[in-house]
Amino acid sequence: MSRGMLRDLQAVTAGRVYDRSAFVVVEPAHRDDVSAVARFCSARGVALSTLGTGHAQRPHALFNGGVVLDMRALNAIVRVDEEAIVAGAGARWFEIADAALAIDRAPPVLPTCLELSIGGTHATGGIGVASFRHGQQIDHCLALDVVMANGEQTTCTPGDALFLACLGGLGQCAIITQVTHALRPVARDSREYRLSYSDHAAFAADCATLADEPDVEAIDAQAVPDGRFQILVRREGPALHASHAAFIERRSARAGMHRDRPTKVALLPDTPTTDAFLPLIGAWDEHFVPANAAPDVTRAMLSLVPSDWLARGHVLLWQLAARGSPPFMPRPPGDRLALISVRAPTDAVDLTAMAGISEVAREAGGTRYVSRYRAADRSTWSAHFGAGWPTVNALKRRFDPQGILNGGVIAYEEDQRSEGQHG
Ligand SMILES: Cc1cc2nc3c(=O)[nH]c(=O)nc-3n(C[C@H](O)[C@H](O)[C@H](O)COP(=O)(O)OP(=O)(O)OC[C@H]3O[C@@H](n4cnc5c(N)ncnc54)[C@H](O)[C@@H]3O)c2cc1C
Repeated sequence: MSRGMLRDLQAVTAGRVYDRSAFVVVEPAHRDDVSAVARFCSARGVALSTLGTGHAQRPHALFNGGVVLDMRALNAIVRVDEEAIVAGAGARWFEIADAALAIDRAPPVLPTCLELSIGGTHATGGIGVASFRHGQQIDHCLALDVVMANGEQTTCTPGDALFLACLGGLGQCAIITQVTHALRPVARDSREYRLSYSDHAAFAADCATLADEPDVEAIDAQAVPDGRFQILVRREGPALHASHAAFIERRSARAGMHRDRPTKVALLPDTPTTDAFLPLIGAWDEHFVPANAAPDVTRAMLSLVPSDWLARGHVLLWQLAARGSPPFMPRPPGDRLALISVRAPTDAVDLTAMAGISEVAREAGGTRYVSRYRAADRSTWSAHFGAGWPTVNALKRRFDPQGILNGGVIAYEEDQRSEGQHG
C-alpha cells in the first residue's frame, strides 16, 4: 500500500479525529495469507489490527507500530442464492446489494453508507433504517469463516461462543475472512414520504406507530433546525398505492408532508457513497435506549445540544428490534430499543455537552454503541459492560491469549490486553 493510500484511509478513519500509522500494511488476497500473517505476529507478539474500509470513528484499525491487515482485496462474492450470500470480509455493501438484487433478494438491513465492508459491520453490529423491523445486520449472520490469533482457520455458526464473540466484537477475538449472510425477498416498487413536525410529541407518536405498519420498510427520523423534526419513510408491497390515503390518514394531524414520490427499492439509501457523507463525518456519540424512554431522552438531549449542531451536526433516532445479546455489544434489556445518535461538527466538539448527552442516556438505562465509543479507561469499560465484563475478559483470554488482536480498544483487566504490543 502506498503512503498516499494510507493517508486517505486515515482521513476517513475516526472522522479525522485520530492520526495513527502502521508499521506495515498487508493486503491479503486469500484467507491463507491472513493465517500466515497471524502466525507471524503471534510468534513474535506483534500487534495485529484489521481494517475494513476505515469508517470507524476509532483509531484501532490503524494501530501504532503493528501490522494492519487491509481486508479490501478479500472481497469476492463467493455464492449467492435465494437464502443467503457468501462474501469475503472486504466486500462492500453495494457489492452485496448488487449481487442480491440481481436475483430479487436483498440483505434485511443495509447501512446508509454502502461503502462499508461486510466484515466491518459484522464486527461493529451494523444498523440502518430497516433495523426497526429487522434488527441489526449481525442478527442475519448465518456463519463466519475466521482466522484465530494463532493463525488457525475455523468456521463458526450460531450457538458457538466464538460466533457471538465476533459479532459486534470489534475484531477482539478473531479475524473475519468470510461472511454468510441471510437474504430476503425484495419488492421493486416502493413509495417514499418525508414527514415534517414542529411538535415533538406528534413526531414521537408517529415514530412509534410507523414501526407497527406492515408495509413500512424504512424509517429515518431526525431532529432538524428551528425546533423541527423529520421522518423519512419508505413503504413497499402490493397494496402500496391503494393504501396511500389511509396511510396519510393515520399520521398525526400535525405532520406536514414535504415529499411523496415513488422509489424502486425501499431499503436502498439515496446517498450511499462516502463522498456524500464527508460533510457528516465528525464526532458521533450513539446510545441504545429503551424505545419507551426515547421521546424523553431525545428531548433532554436536544436541550443540551448547542444550537448550531442541528444545522451542521445531526441528531438521529433509529428504532431497533433487538435480538440476542452479543457479549461485546451490551444493550438495554427488551426487544424494542432506539439508537439515538448525536453528531458534533468536527470544529465544534463540546465535550461537556457530549458528557451530558451520555449521562441522559445512562440515567434512562441506555448503553453506548460500542462502535462509536472513544477512548476510556478500565473502570469506564467495566461500567460499560456491567455484569458482562467478566465474560468479555474471559472471551479475550480464551480466543486471543496473547492479546495481539486489535489492541488499544478495550482496557481489559490485564495490562498487555489494554495496550496490545508494539512490533
Ligand atoms: C459516513 C459513514 C456512514 C456510516 N453509516 C453507518 C450505518 O449506516 N450503519 C452502521 O452500522 N454504521 C455506520 N457507520 C459506522 C461504522 O463506522 C461502521 O459500521 C464500521 O466502521 C464498519 O465499516 P468498515 O468496513 O469501514 O470497518 P472499519 O471501520 O475498518 O472497522 C471497524 C471495526 O471492525 C474491525 N474489523 C473490520 N473488519 C474486520 C474483520 N474482517 N474481522 C474482524 N474485525 C474487523 C476493525 O478492526 C474495527 O474495530 C458509518 C460510518 C461513516 C463514516
